[in-house]
Parts: sequence; structure tokens; C-alpha cells
Amino acid sequence: MQPVPVRVTLPDGQTITANVLYRRREPGGSWWYTLELPLTARDEDAAGRSVPSERRVTFAAPYPQVQPIPGTDYRDVPDHSPCDEWRLEHSRYGRLLVLHDGLCWSPDPANTERIAPQAASDLLMKGKATACHLCNPYP
Ligand SMILES: [Zn+2]
Repeated sequence: MQPVPVRVTLPDGQTITANVLYRRREPGGSWWYTLELPLTARDEDAAGRSVPSERRVTFAAPYPQVQPIPGTDYRDVPDHSPCDEWRLEHSRYGRLLVLHDGLCWSPDPANTERIAPQAASDLLMKGKATACHLCNPYP
């Protein structure tokens, strides 16, 4: 999918352009968008000199903080995560397992493993894992 830009108003009031990865409709009817923003980062070349590079960060925002850009075609934006792998986070506190989609920014990588969609679905159905409240995964 080609990048699909939207305008996003951030909590401090500035407005930026980000790319939509996918959107989902919450049970109450509101839309949430998972977005991607390319940022500048610092890398080092072979000689150890600092060089600029790109890091993409994902974040989430709801409508109306997310607004369409006139003339942009949003028909191909997926209504669910396009990933086919899911991540299971083992809480550092107790035995809680939290399921995330592959794009969620929230899980701690040190305590997270990738799992197949069927395994993720089984864990949710059997109540052995809870769905992340940010990405609301539905494998
Ligand atoms: Zn998540």
C-alpha cells in the first residue's frame, strides 16, 4: 500500500502529516488510527562519524485529532492491522499476558515474543491473555 497521508493534531496543538497504517472502529463507533511518522535519527558511519538516518515510529490517535487531506483516496486503508504476526507480552508484574498487534508501540521488546495468529486467537478465546487497550488486537 502506498503511504496514505492524514493531518494529525498532537496534544500540544501542533499539526503534522503522518501516514495511516490502518484504522479500526471501536465498539462505541469512534475511529482510531495507527499512524507512522518518519523521524530523523543519528547513526554512525564506518569511521564513527555521526550521520543522519531515518527511524519510523508508530503511534495512535482518534478522529477528530486525525483529519483527512482533501483529494486523498482512503478507500484502501485497512480496517485492521495488516500484520500476520502478533506479539505476546509477559508482564513484569505477575503472570499477566497481553496481546498486541505487530505494529503496536506499547510492548516492552525485552518481554515480548512473536506468536502466530491462531495461537493469539486461542489465548484470547480461552481468557489466558488480555488484549492491549491501545491496539485492540483481533487476530
Ligand atoms: Zn498493543
